[in-house]
Amino acid sequence: MECRLDKQVAIVTGASSGLGYACAEQLADAGAAVVINYHSQPKPAEELASRIKAAGGRAITVGADVSQEADVASLFAKTLEAFGGVDILVANSGMQKDAPLTAMTLDQWEAVLKVNLTGQFLCVQTAVRQFEAQGDRGVSRARGKIICMSSVHQVIPWAGHVNYAASKGGIMMMMQTIAQEVAEKGIRVNAIAPGAIRTAINASETEGEKGAALLKLIPYGRIGVAEDVGKAAVWLASDQSDYVVGTTIFVDGGMTLYPEFRGNG
Ligand code: NAD
Repeated sequence: MECRLDKQVAIVTGASSGLGYACAEQLADAGAAVVINYHSQPKPAEELASRIKAAGGRAITVGADVSQEADVASLFAKTLEAFGGVDILVANSGMQKDAPLTAMTLDQWEAVLKVNLTGQFLCVQTAVRQFEAQGDRGVSRARGKIICMSSVHQVIPWAGHVNYAASKGGIMMMMQTIAQEVAEKGIRVNAIAPGAIRTAINASETEGEKGAALLKLIPYGRIGVAEDVGKAAVWLASDQSDYVVGTTIFVDGGMTLYPEFRGNG
């Protein structure tokens, strides 16, 4: 059962680091042409594009702030210019600005909602408009595939991170609602909810003593790596998951299994 994405075009937002980088790399390995969106780090995005092209694949980099409507329009316009269509969107960009509730500023609240939730909304809306406009490209069973990068915090409350947890809870309902709305058009919308995956967003929490404490919350006994998420994205984008619609795949080593209850039966 091989997941191939030949002749397909994938946009991955926030792909100059972490999970987005791994998703772009693995979608390219599976045969897709990839659009590597970056916000503030063009260099790693360009290095990834060069590596993909050196291996015989197709890739471009596009700078865009996903929270800005005009930037998202330009991201899709540049994709069409380079590759003539789009089949897959991985709406991955996200950020944290942590503070206890009583210390959180309105700026911190709004900044996280704007990128994590509004940014995904704008990218998903533009992708659906494009899938409708371009019709059936004959490259996959669905007319378009969308993967929203959520988090285990779409269901696990997270003290000290109310802006982030609210954005991810919002992504869950946004994803399900849009999936329900566009499934009849042949468009599949799903989400991935990573648990603790070692990347730049959580470097201080996954190393040393904090990392050891974190392991207690992961029944499977290891902190995840970005490739764990990239593999799930390839499967969700492929025809192997053609009947999967409006679902969240938890890639979390069992973090959502209430591990504190182990041995307390
Ligand atoms: P990361 O910090 O490496 O990646 C986040 C990416 O988003 C960066 O490339 C950043 O440039 C980009 N970004 C930020 N603001 C942007 C904007 N305005 N426009 C475009 N891009 C922007 O961290 P990561 O762990 O790879 O996170 C990727 C996604 O995975 C996020 O949505 C995050 O919430 C989610 N996630 C990560 C984990 C984890 O354990 N690493 C767990 C659950 C969910």
